[in-house]
Amino acid sequence: MTELDTTQEGTPAVPVWEYADAPESKDIVHLQDRYGLFIAGEFVEPKSGKYMATIDPSTEGILAEVPEAGPEDVDLAVAAARGAFESRWRDLPGRERAKYLFRIARALQERAREFAVLESMNGGKPIKESRDIDLPLAAAHFFYYAGWADKLEYAFPGRDARPIGVAGQVIPWNFPMLMAAWKLAPALATGNTAVLKPAETTPLTALLLAEVIQAAELPPGAVNVVTGAGETGAALVAADVDKVAFTGSTEVGKQIRRTIAGSHKRLTLELGGKAANIVFEDAPLDQAVEGVVNGIFFNQGHVCCAGSRLLVQEPIFEALLEKLKARLQTLRVGNPLDKNTDIGAINSRAQLTRIEELVASGVEDGAEMFQPACDLPERGFWFRPTLFTGVSQSHRIAREEIFGPVLSILTFRTPEEAVEKANNTPYGLSAGVWTEKGSRILWMAERLKAGVVWANTFNRFDPSSPFGGYKESGFGREGGLHGLAPYLELTPREPAPGNGRHG
Ligand code: NAP
Ligand code: MG
Repeated sequence: MTELDTTQEGTPAVPVWEYADAPESKDIVHLQDRYGLFIAGEFVEPKSGKYMATIDPSTEGILAEVPEAGPEDVDLAVAAARGAFESRWRDLPGRERAKYLFRIARALQERAREFAVLESMNGGKPIKESRDIDLPLAAAHFFYYAGWADKLEYAFPGRDARPIGVAGQVIPWNFPMLMAAWKLAPALATGNTAVLKPAETTPLTALLLAEVIQAAELPPGAVNVVTGAGETGAALVAADVDKVAFTGSTEVGKQIRRTIAGSHKRLTLELGGKAANIVFEDAPLDQAVEGVVNGIFFNQGHVCCAGSRLLVQEPIFEALLEKLKARLQTLRVGNPLDKNTDIGAINSRAQLTRIEELVASGVEDGAEMFQPACDLPERGFWFRPTLFTGVSQSHRIAREEIFGPVLSILTFRTPEEAVEKANNTPYGLSAGVWTEKGSRILWMAERLKAGVVWANTFNRFDPSSPFGGYKESGFGREGGLHGLAPYLELTPREPAPGNGRHG
C-alpha cells in the first residue's frame, strides 16, 4: 500500500492499493488496414473515393482507415434499404424477422470479448465497462426486440401496426455498439430497414456488427452501415428515408429538425442532458457517494444522462464532500484495456479541448476546483476526475453539458428548492434522488422534469425500460414497448369483413 499525494491541501491522503498491470489481450481483434461501406449485404469501396483514419484515443495510434461516404454512397445505401424493405423484409412474418434478431443477439454474446476489446480500443472506455455493460446490454437489446417481432398485435391491441419504411439512424461516439443496438433492434423487429451512420471517431464496432449481420444472412440491404463525418450524417438525413433517428448533441438535433421540417419524415431525437443527482440528508452516505461517482465518472462522463450536477442538502454537504474527495483519489485513470481501470481516455482531442475550455470557465467564474493527484499517460487524451464546489446556477459549468469527468456541486435546503434547482436547465433527460423515504422519492419524481428518475441508484439500464427526454433533451422513447412506436404506422384495426369481429 502506498500513500497518495494530494494536489490540494486539507484533503486526507487516502491509502490506495497498488495493482499490477492487468491488460486485456488485443489478440482477439483482427483489424483490417482498410474497411469498406456495408451496402446491400457487401463491403464496398466508397464512390467518394475518400477514406479517413480512425485512432485509439489512449495512444493516438492509427487503427485503420474507414470510408468517408459521400451523398452518392448514402443514396446507394438508402436505395438498398428500400429494395430490401419492399421486396422482402416488411412482408416477412414477425417470427421470421425474430429469427434473424435472435441470431444477431447470440453472435454478440459469442463474440462479446472481441467486440468489447475493439470498443475500448476505438473509443477509450475502460474494458470493464465495455465488457460488463455495453456488450451485454447491446445483446440484451436484440434479444428483447426479437421477442416483440411476432407480438406487435399484443403490443398495440386494437390497432394495425405497419412498418414505416427506411430508417436513417445517426449515432454518437459515447456508446457506439449500444446505440447501434438501440437503433437497429426496434427498427428491424417492426419490419423497417435501416441505414446506420456511426460517429466519425468510433466506426469500428459498427463495421464489426455489419460482419455479424452479414454472417446472420439478413436479406441484403436490410441493414447498411455508412461511415463518415458530420456531412455523411447530414446526407443521410437529407436522403430518401422515411424516418430519422438521431442521438447526439442538441445543436445538431435542432439542425436536423429544421432540415426535415415539412417533409413526411418521422423524427426522434435523443439529445444532451445536465442531470441533477440529488442527495438528501437522510440518504445512506456511502451508498450515495458510490452513486454520485458512478453517475458522473462512468464512461469518462461521456454520458448524456450523466449526473453532472450534484445537489446536496446543506447539513450533509461537508461530510459528503470529504467522502467524495477521498473516493476520487482511489479512481484509476489510464489504459482502457487494463481490467482495473476506472476512467479511460477522453474520446477525442476535440472533446478534450471542449472539456478543458469549460473547466477553465468554471475556474474563471470563481468556482473552486478539486482534482486528485494521478499520473496520466504521456500520449493520448486524458482528463483527471474533477469536482467543483462554490458553483452558482449561472456558471457555465452548471448550465452546459461538459460531457467529461467533471462534477459541479450545489447545495439546497428544502425539497422544493431541490426541485426548482434541478429543473432549472434547458435539458430534461434524467435525474437521481437519494433518500431513505419512499414517499419523498415519489414526491420528487412527480415534480422533476426528466425522462428518467433513478431512486437510490444511477445510470441503470434495461432494454424493457423506456428512455428519452423532455425539453431540449429531445423527444421519442427508446427501449421497452414505447421504443416500438416510433417505427410503426399505427391505425385503428379494420373489422374483419362479414362478422365485424377482429381478424
Ligand atoms: P454530434 O455532432 O451531435 O454527433 C452525433 C452524430 O451526429 C455523429 O454521428 C455525428 O457525426 C453526426 N452529425 C454531425 N453533424 C451532423 C449533421 N449536420 N447532420 C447529421 N448528423 C450529423 O456530437 P459531437 O460533435 O460528437 O459532440 C459534441 C457534443 O455533443 C458533446 O460535447 C456532448 O455535449 C454532446 N453529445 C451528446 C450525446 C448524447 O448521447 N446525447 C452524444 C455525443 C455528444 P460525426 O461524429 O462524424 O461528427
Ligand atoms: Mg461531430
